[in-house]
Amino acid sequence: MCVSAGCPNRAHCFSQGEATFLLLGQGCSRNCLFCAMGEEAVTPVDATEPQRVAQTVASLELSYVVLTSVTRDDLPDGGAAHICQTAREIRAHAPHTRVEALLPDFGGCRRALFLAATGSFSIVGHNVEMVPSLYTRYRSGGGFQRSLSVLHALGEHGIPTKSGFMVGLGETQEEVLSLISTLSDTGISVLTAGQYLPGRRGGITPKRYVSPEEFEIYAAHAQECGIASVRMGPYVRSSLNAADCFREICK
Ligand code: SF4
Ligand code: SF4
Repeated sequence: MCVSAGCPNRAHCFSQGEATFLLLGQGCSRNCLFCAMGEEAVTPVDATEPQRVAQTVASLELSYVVLTSVTRDDLPDGGAAHICQTAREIRAHAPHTRVEALLPDFGGCRRALFLAATGSFSIVGHNVEMVPSLYTRYRSGGGFQRSLSVLHALGEHGIPTKSGFMVGLGETQEEVLSLISTLSDTGISVLTAGQYLPGRRGGITPKRYVSPEEFEIYAAHAQECGIASVRMGPYVRSSLNAADCFREICK
């Protein structure tokens, strides 16, 4: 994922032994306007993927791995079992590697969320991606309230939860502050926010570039709301310094 998305943080993350893997193919069953993955067709699930990812994690001696995936509304469980199987394989091949999950909303399916929340993950995340007023325009296949329900449902199982969003898509400062308050009410332990940038394969032109000072205002508000670990800045991605965030909430 780090390479295919052209993430600007690769040198930093790789030097820390951290990386993100995208599961379940490059094609998504949704078509968010800001993301190029919805333009590709979904592909059959590769049953060998969990083991191959685990072998890669072991051979690279990664210390912290984030597993994420496209949305697969075409699969009965949204791919939850496949994601959990990958975590189990990593545990078997690289027992000292911590595994975080960055999950889709699984269409709100309680069974899929139960599977994910009780899988072999240290922390589970679900990104709301943007302020609710922009969903209709950019994320029509998703639902802001559904995403909040996902965070609540994951948290019910006692596992730490995490979320993230992007700015620069046309939101107001008031909307961002309100979003942070709403997310804190779900009980998340980690919150990230970064500047939207189109990926290598395409996307949309950002409406504006948010200054580091404005990110500091948002981060201060998140801390005031009681969120234990907060990362916000132009290049922040939800998996940037994920291991550090996890350590912070374990203190
Ligand atoms: Fe990979 Fe995430 Fe680091 Fe980017 S921030 S290089 S996607 S682990
Ligand atoms: Fe699919 Fe997620 Fe991209 Fe939307 S943002 S098209 S759900 S991978």
